Amino acid sequence: MRALVTGGCGFIGSHLAEALLARGDRVTVVDDLSTGRLENVAHLVGRPDFRVAIETITDEAAMDRLVSACDIIYHLAAAVGVELIVSDPVRVIETNIVGSGAVLRVAARYRKRVVLASTSEVYGKSEAVPFGEDADRVLGPTTRSRWCYACSKAMDEFLALAYHKSEGLPVVVARLFNTVGPRQTGRYGMVVPRLVRQALAGQPLTVYGDGQQTRCFCHVADVVRALAGLGRAPDAVGEVFNVGSTEEVTIEALARRVLALTGSGSEIIYVPYDEAYEAGFEDMRRRVPDITKVGRCLGWRPRATLDDILRDVIAHEARASGHGQER
Ligand code: UDP
Repeated sequence: MRALVTGGCGFIGSHLAEALLARGDRVTVVDDLSTGRLENVAHLVGRPDFRVAIETITDEAAMDRLVSACDIIYHLAAAVGVELIVSDPVRVIETNIVGSGAVLRVAARYRKRVVLASTSEVYGKSEAVPFGEDADRVLGPTTRSRWCYACSKAMDEFLALAYHKSEGLPVVVARLFNTVGPRQTGRYGMVVPRLVRQALAGQPLTVYGDGQQTRCFCHVADVVRALAGLGRAPDAVGEVFNVGSTEEVTIEALARRVLALTGSGSEIIYVPYDEAYEAGFEDMRRRVPDITKVGRCLGWRPRATLDDILRDVIAHEARASGHGQER
């Protein structure tokens, strides 16, 4: 199989490239290095079955060349991270709507299978946990920038499913819930690498709001195993799948776990959402996936526990800070 991974120099994309290579696929990653980093794939460069193309997905001519030369596209390139979403909504909408539009249009031209990485954000602030794939979505107003991400990714899903319905394009939608592991940068707001770095540096751990909001964190190795499986499963085409962990934890408990596992003496401070993001920021109180469907299709379920994940991220961050790596 010749796989094209958009966003392949990013956190999840680089892990997916590794997993696909490990099972014998040939892999081209395409990335514009806006949030992705070449360091993430440096260890793969030089392999005969691996290629990096520095291009943007909004460049349809470049995508035409790349898509025509592959058998399947794993479309992960997107503007992500709540901080980035709030600070640069234009970029989010441009990348996620215009870029994904180009990828899907070209995929349809060559009739190539697409695994579209979507997000649990599409469920918005719905309280109907655990979220089933067909559950209703509850989104806030357009005056709150956060919601542009959920809307842009939902449009990607609509477009992918529309291509499937009207042109028979083989698409699979994977809604990724909170995904964590080595190489994730905290620069765009992701809580686990941020708390781990703060703990290792002896700085206060910043818990936003009252810390009683919950999330389920899934190890990136588990997530890419699901993505790679969805790329092959015949029954997955035209379907939407949640991919995530069901081990629910409050952010306050997460911070305490990070302190225990790092042995850090840092304190926990509570930062109001308005200060952390923007005035009127709306967070979701609970986010838990129903993963019955992906379990049925692939026999998939996460293997790593929250403690496994935290140990991995702590080891990675301790190494990175020891070597003075860019963070
Ligand atoms: N969060 C926090 N401290 C931080 C960064 C994030 O308490 O330094 C909170 C954030 O408000 C959210 C949760 O942690 O409730 C998960 O945030 P993240 O940005 O990792 O992912 P989200 O689930 O919001 O997409």
